[in-house]
Amino acid sequence: MTATHAGRFGVFGGRYVPETLMSNMIALEAAFDDARRDAAFQAEVATTLAHFVGRPTPLYHAQRLSAAWGGQVYLKREDLTHTGAHKINNAVGQALLAKRMGKRRIVAETGAGQHGVATAAACARLGLECIVYMGALDCERQRPNVERMRLLGATVHPCEGGSRNLKIAINEAIRDWIANPDSTHYLIGSVVGPHPYPLMVREFQRVIGDEARQQFTRVAPRPDAVIACVGGGSNAMGLFAGFIEDAAVELHGVEAGGSGDATAATLNHGRPGVLHGALSYLLQDAEGQILNTHSVAAGLDYPGVGPEHSFLKDSGRARYHVVGDQEALAAFKELCALEGILPAIESSHALAFARRILADRQGLRVIVNLSGRGDKDLPGLLAKGLV
Ligand SMILES: *Cc1c(COP(=O)(O)O)cnc(C)c1O
Repeated sequence: MTATHAGRFGVFGGRYVPETLMSNMIALEAAFDDARRDAAFQAEVATTLAHFVGRPTPLYHAQRLSAAWGGQVYLKREDLTHTGAHKINNAVGQALLAKRMGKRRIVAETGAGQHGVATAAACARLGLECIVYMGALDCERQRPNVERMRLLGATVHPCEGGSRNLKIAINEAIRDWIANPDSTHYLIGSVVGPHPYPLMVREFQRVIGDEARQQFTRVAPRPDAVIACVGGGSNAMGLFAGFIEDAAVELHGVEAGGSGDATAATLNHGRPGVLHGALSYLLQDAEGQILNTHSVAAGLDYPGVGPEHSFLKDSGRARYHVVGDQEALAAFKELCALEGILPAIESSHALAFARRILADRQGLRVIVNLSGRGDKDLPGLLAKGLV
């Protein structure tokens, strides 16, 4: 295993990968550096975001919710993007970069299937071969997303072994990339993994924060606080990126507390350690074994977190909170009833924290990232009798 000093956020991040992957990482870093400075590439990304993804997404003033909660709540409507969540921003960006690098084949892993669907859509749009690794148990639980990916032209590989979930799918995707380094790009879905992924994914997601900052100027120079849920941390980093330079804007990340004994609140309950190529906070036991996580929100159910969030936590620039299943579900129902918007259960964690902060500090103006739409969650929530 090799660590370099590239891509650190304070002590966090880095590049803890097998020697066999090192040249891939260096080539990807160089390609991304080059593409960021290329006006033609930036224009291609912008055009695709406008016409395929449906950007800019609205910054919506939730007036009835604001009246009920005692402040001003603005929702950044990533739920209105093509495929229904912010993940498409990154999928499109990386797929365009892969194509620019001359790669014809994309591998990805997916847990609940949202990242797989976004990646399959981006690959279909660009005529790239798409292989999605997914735990066999997750395939059974997320049948509609498996069918969506197939219709979008992807090959879905159900992964047996381990707990038949996201962990084994990540292992299989990495194994594939090691075996096919020249033809293949590994399209990671959040601000996790070795350098340059955390930086690159943040840059592909910063369109959320850049738009929101610009859109908010119609209301006031700045919001008091911005709030986003944190799984791996990509929708939060995308939103934060637009406001991080402005010290007057509070940054709040919201982790999933789950219910009962298991949690997915990595920054609140974890300790630093290395997982999937980067040093970051990690849910682990005393021996360093990764703990099982739980949340009603599959997209937040990950034992690690992006290294930049670890840095922002320790530096105090951002604060991280825990919202459990029940509180998130209550916010989910309130948004449905008061605004006619069905949010993703992941995003509902951020909403629930907005409610909490407004109860303490009436009149605050906050932007909540509505990272996705909730239609995907309904069958599961109904089956469990939660809604
Ligand atoms: C995947 C997902 C998340 C969590 O991922 P981040 O990388 O933390 O943003 C949040 N909301 C929705 C709707 C998702 O699909």
